[in-house]
Amino acid sequence: SEMVAAMAAGHIEAWLQAQVSAADRAVVGAEALVRWNDPETGLRRPDQFLPLAEEVDMIEVIDDFVRDDAMATIREIRETTGQSLRLGLNVNSKLLRRPDTAERLLSQTLTHRLEPGMLDLEVLETIAVDSENSADVLETLDALSQLGFNIQLDDFGTGRASLSSLRDLKVDCIKIDRSFVTDIDTNKELQIFTNALIKLGHSLDIEVLAEGVERAEEADWLQERGCQYFQGYYFAKPLPKAE
Ligand code: C2E
Ligand code: CA
Repeated sequence: SEMVAAMAAGHIEAWLQAQVSAADRAVVGAEALVRWNDPETGLRRPDQFLPLAEEVDMIEVIDDFVRDDAMATIREIRETTGQSLRLGLNVNSKLLRRPDTAERLLSQTLTHRLEPGMLDLEVLETIAVDSENSADVLETLDALSQLGFNIQLDDFGTGRASLSSLRDLKVDCIKIDRSFVTDIDTNKELQIFTNALIKLGHSLDIEVLAEGVERAEEADWLQERGCQYFQGYYFAKPLPKAE
């Protein structure tokens, strides 16, 4: 009930974290990350309320709101600066099991006068592959892809299913998990694996984004190996709309 009240009071917000191009370090997009800004207890991060939201069947309402909020911001940025940013949206597993999801997301996107090609749907490989109704999920992802939405595999490398998800889905981009990025410039053992992940992306003609970049040296190492996009505290933390 607190969550319902927070939604109604406008305390649930979509924050945005910049994504930059490796080549010139210019901002090309942003990922929407939900925050619960409680005036009494302060800021709540997704890990503190999304698991409960899933349990009480509120995750879809929250995500729907996050999409509207973030799409409105991207549209406003385009109208005031002329710059078209891409928008990364985290997709929950329930959404992908609904038969009308592709249609609904398209209509939501067009309502905000954005194009599906600007949207990156971030899917955990565990959702895509381990899911009980995985045939439905694969169908929905296929339909979304045909409509022009970009499919990104989130937390790539951690899901035990990396290769089969790349084989079974039409993936446009992999987001290499932070655990393959932290201290990559000095950790020789890690370098072997991260290098292999980047090469895997290249050989399948899939774009590669590195998450959780916190230092310049990490970014430089990754750029030299051909990673095309970065996201992480080194460039920007997730920020509220106004910032
Ligand atoms: P994720 O999709 O892997 O998102 C990246 C997380 O890493 C975010 O945590 C972000 O704040 C954090 N991060 C980004 N750069 C850095 C860095 O350089 N260093 C470190 N240490 N952390 C960094 P956050 O915002 O707490 O989100 C946690 C998870 O909650 C997300 O992981 C995502 O799976 C989920 N989530 C967030 N917002 C939403 C949402 O609106 N809907 C759904 N369904 N899930 C969401
Ligand atoms: Ca994500």
